[in-house]
Amino acid sequence: MGSTGSIGTSALEVVRSLGSDYVIAGLAANQRWRELAVQCCEHCPTAVAIADPEHADAMRAEINGTVEMLVGPDGLVELAGRSDTDFVVAAIVGAAGLASTIAAVQAGKQVGLANKEALVVAGSFLVPLAEKNGAVLLPIDSEHSAVFQAMAAGKRAEVRKIYLTASGGPFRTWSAEQMAGATLEDALKHPTWSMGPKITIDSATMMNKALEIIEARWLFGVDAGSIEVLVHPESIIHSMVEFCDGSVIAQLGTPDMKTPIQYALTHPHRKEGCADKLDFSTIRRLNFEPADMERFPALRMGYEVARAGGTAGAVLNAANEAAVEAFQQGRIPFGRIVELTQCVLDRHVVQSAPDLETLLQTDAWARQEVNECLMP
Ligand code: NAD
Ligand code: MG
Repeated sequence: MGSTGSIGTSALEVVRSLGSDYVIAGLAANQRWRELAVQCCEHCPTAVAIADPEHADAMRAEINGTVEMLVGPDGLVELAGRSDTDFVVAAIVGAAGLASTIAAVQAGKQVGLANKEALVVAGSFLVPLAEKNGAVLLPIDSEHSAVFQAMAAGKRAEVRKIYLTASGGPFRTWSAEQMAGATLEDALKHPTWSMGPKITIDSATMMNKALEIIEARWLFGVDAGSIEVLVHPESIIHSMVEFCDGSVIAQLGTPDMKTPIQYALTHPHRKEGCADKLDFSTIRRLNFEPADMERFPALRMGYEVARAGGTAGAVLNAANEAAVEAFQQGRIPFGRIVELTQCVLDRHVVQSAPDLETLLQTDAWARQEVNECLMP
C-alpha cells in the first residue's frame, strides 16, 4: 500500500534483494500511475489498485489487461484483505492509509506498519482488532523497529524506559524566531534521512516525534511517562530500551529505511541486508541532547495526547495533516503549523473509548476547524 512512495520503493528494493522467497501479490498507490505501471511490469502482481479514480483510465490503457485492476479507496481496501497475501506493507501517508490497514488487520495479515498515522488516529481500535483476528503489527518506523528489536533482550515486564531518538530535523539549532519564517525549501532539507515530503515537514516541527510517542504507546502498550525523546543528530542509534536492572539495549545502523523494512519482512529471522553497513572507522563520536519542548512545542502535545487517549490522537493527526498541507500550499508560514494544531486540540473535548465512526468524524471535524481558521 503506497508502493510509489519513499517507503514503498524502498520496500520493493528489499523484496528484489531478498529473492524468490518473496513474491509481490499486489501494488497500490494514489496518483502516480506511470510509476505504478512500471512497478507492475517488473513485479507482475496479480492485482493493482489506484486510489484516485481520475487516473484509472490512463492506468488501464498502460497495463492493457495484463494485471487485474481495482479503483478507488475501496479498491485498496479490497486488495489489502485478499487471501493470496500473507504480508501487507502499510506505507500510505496519513490517515488515508487507515482503511486499508484496518482491512489487512481484519483479514489477520502480518502488517508491516510504516503508516504511523493509522495508529495515532485509531490505535485504540486497531490494537484489539489485531489481537482478535490474529494479525501481527510489525513496526517499520526505524525507532519502533529499534525498540522492537531491543525488547527481545528481556521481558515486557522488565522494561523500564524507552528512549526514542530524534535527529532534531533541519531546525535543531534554529531559534523559534528563525523557525517561524522558515520556507518550504528549508523544511524539506532533512539532515540525515531521505523521506516523503509530509514526514520531512513533520520532522522539522518535530511533530513526527510526537506522532511516534503515540505510536510507541500503542505498539508496546507502555504509558507516555516511560517514553523519553532524546535528540541524537547522527541518526545512528535508532532507539533504545532500558531494562529494570539498568541495562540499556540499543539498535544501530545507517539511516536507511531498508533495514527496518527488511526486519519486518523477515521477522523473526534475519537475512543478508541490502543497505549500507556502519563503518566505525569513520564514526568518531555519537552525540545526545535533551529535547527542547520550548522550541518544539509539538513534543509536549505528543505526550499530552498519548496520555489523553480517546479521540485526542485523531484530532492531533488530522489538524496537523491539514496544517502541513496549508503550509505546503503557501497559505500559512511554518510557525503556524503547530500553533494551528494546538488551537484545534484546545477546542476539542476528548471522548474516551470512541468507536471507529466517532474517530472518523473527529478526524473530519479537526480538518474543518483548521480550514475555518484559514478563511480570510
Ligand atoms: P510518500 O509521500 O513518499 O509516499 C506516500 C505513498 O502513499 C505514495 O505511494 C502515494 O501514492 C500513497 N498515497 C498518498 N495518498 C494516498 C491516498 N489518499 N490513497 C492511497 N494512497 C495514497 O510517503 P513516505 O515518506 O513513503 O511515507 C509513508 C508512510 O511511512 C508515512 O506514514 C510516514 O510517516 C511513514 N514513514 C516514512 C519514513 C520514510 O523514511 N519515508 C520513515 C518512517 C515512517
Ligand atoms: Mg521514525
